[in-house]
Amino acid sequence: MEFDHILIRYGEMALKGKNIKQFINKLQHNVGQKIKEFPDAKVKRTQGRMFVLLNGNDPKAVMEKCKKVFGIQSLSLAIKVENDVEKIKDAALYALRNAEDVKTFKVSVKRINKDFDVRSQALNQMLGGHLLSNTEGFTVDVHHPDVEVKVEIRKEATYITSSIVPGLGGLPVGTSGKSLLLLSGGIDSPVAGYLAMKRGVAIEAIHFHSPPFTSERAKQKVLDLAKQLTKYGKSINVHIVPFTKLQQEIFREMPDEYAMTIMRRMMFRIAESVCRNENILSLTTGENLGQVASQTMDSMHTINEVTNYPIIRPLVTMDKLEVINIAEKIGTYETSILPFEDCCTIFVPKSPKTKPKREKVNYYESTHDFTASINEAIEGIETIKITDKKEIEESFGDLF
Ligand code: ATP
Ligand code: MG
Repeated sequence: MEFDHILIRYGEMALKGKNIKQFINKLQHNVGQKIKEFPDAKVKRTQGRMFVLLNGNDPKAVMEKCKKVFGIQSLSLAIKVENDVEKIKDAALYALRNAEDVKTFKVSVKRINKDFDVRSQALNQMLGGHLLSNTEGFTVDVHHPDVEVKVEIRKEATYITSSIVPGLGGLPVGTSGKSLLLLSGGIDSPVAGYLAMKRGVAIEAIHFHSPPFTSERAKQKVLDLAKQLTKYGKSINVHIVPFTKLQQEIFREMPDEYAMTIMRRMMFRIAESVCRNENILSLTTGENLGQVASQTMDSMHTINEVTNYPIIRPLVTMDKLEVINIAEKIGTYETSILPFEDCCTIFVPKSPKTKPKREKVNYYESTHDFTASINEAIEGIETIKITDKKEIEESFGDLF
């Protein structure tokens, strides 16, 4: 005997009224995408339930994939058997024995199929007795059991589930449009991308790269981070912007203490132009209030002036430790702390303004024409499609 189904429960989406159909369809599609690599595994829906038919695939491996799909409240491994008391007993025993870290249990029978001739209460007792006499070390606890062995008798069959595994919650990726994530090699921006995805936002990423000051390995690190994010959603296009020339020009032509602010404004301008080309309606950053000079309220106000696209800043109110905790949980931390330089750490002004003003920055920018370099950077963008499978599937070179 083996678990042959994974039951998927979705919670928050039930609140979404008119959109519910679209959300559920998307969730089913997203789960389907994640289990594609398992031959014959299928995601199905009947009577308000979603489940994966394992068709012989390793239950744990498929579960690991499903656990990372946003929009799922909880999951359980399940066994489907005929509506037959002996078979139900065997399956319940299997379910209990294969629940992890369990000492106490409770059996809950739900008889939806009233043609089944043993009543719920009688079957509850029968199964409880069967489990106790065929196992060691378990006791029954009807109020706070470690595991509830659920037996659901339906028309077509009986389903038996044991442990409930928490899902990630959130909304299915793709139900809230798309955003362009400014992805550095740091700790924060991958976490920001993850949190945006959790709200159903699909992402593309943009990275500003300054060779030879920033190395190939620094670029690879960003691609690796994007790859880790694909585990929670779909493939991600990463737009790599050749930033060296523009960055050098900024640091040569602009007053030192304003160079960083102006560099950030350039990033937003270029990011917005990618959005326009790719039909993306917002930007997402790992900005956080008060961490560093570029992230004071004045600084945000001045940098934000160059775009009127919505900017999603999921980390804006978080403490660094909260961010690190999430980074560890989602598997980006190890990569983020690799010591490869990024374009912002290479060109660090000696004393950046912590309170840059819009009027001053606008004045300085008016004294030099950056248009040619901005356009050159945009024209030089290399787009790399990162999937959660092979290393790098495609590189489709210059898009513009
Ligand atoms: P992170 O940990 O994400 O690097 P940070 O704490 O180092 O962030 P900043 O360096 O001020 O903060 O960067 C703020 C945000 O600007 C980043 O979270 C990211 O969204 C964006 N950003 C910074 N550098 C780059 C880059 N080279 N390419 C793309 N986006 C960048
Ligand atoms: Mg950084």
